[in-house]
Amino acid sequence: MNDSKLVSVAIDGPAGAGKSTIAKQVAKEKGYIYVDTGAMYRAMALYLIREGIGYNEKERIEEACTRADISIDHVNGEQIVLLNGENVNSLIRTEEVGNMASVSSTNPKVREKLVSLQQKLAEKRSLVMDGRDIGTVVLPNAGVKIYLTASSAIRAKRRYEELLAKGVSCDINEIEKDIIERDKRDMNREISPLKQAKDAILVDSSNLSIEEVKEKILSIINNKEGM
Ligand code: C5P
Repeated sequence: MNDSKLVSVAIDGPAGAGKSTIAKQVAKEKGYIYVDTGAMYRAMALYLIREGIGYNEKERIEEACTRADISIDHVNGEQIVLLNGENVNSLIRTEEVGNMASVSSTNPKVREKLVSLQQKLAEKRSLVMDGRDIGTVVLPNAGVKIYLTASSAIRAKRRYEELLAKGVSCDINEIEKDIIERDKRDMNREISPLKQAKDAILVDSSNLSIEEVKEKILSIINNKEGM
């Protein structure tokens, strides 16, 4: 990694493994930008919902996709997602948007558009980018590739506690069922399925604290940078 000034760290893994929490902290520590690609798929999904487009309307999704201008900006280290110039950060974290994103992200035209945007970002800045296909498709030459995972039971427990802290009552078994369903969709879709890149390092966060995962990933990056 010494011969290139720009560094790309790719972090892939299933929903709820802690990718965004860890990626954000690692990026801050290294002085790189953090790119949350899931937020881009969510912004596109929000546009489709606003246009009244249904899950199965492939042609309308593809046509609408050409009208949705998605870009990202960084303010005080925080990623802002812009949909046709509007900051939509506070609107994309709902279940409705997440479910639409999970479906519309299987569309090749949607992926083509967002992958190209993600690749352009990596040409300009050192970054930590998280998603499902970063090490395999978006940045196959990334200097560091991590596959971050955790058991579905642990991911469900974390999500359950997060919701409880927000005062939302929920059923942990239902959450785990949803997680398993989403994994299945992400891992079995035809294009860019979620899988560990051959040269990615597996980090299982099931029995590790956030701090421990962060330290582990930082030491992987620092080792690579020293090579
Ligand atoms: O990570 P997050 O849950 O925010 O992502 C929303 C949806 O976008 C996921 O369900 C996944 O299907 C999709 N996604 C994707 N490729 C990425 C990032 C997210 O297909 N690189």
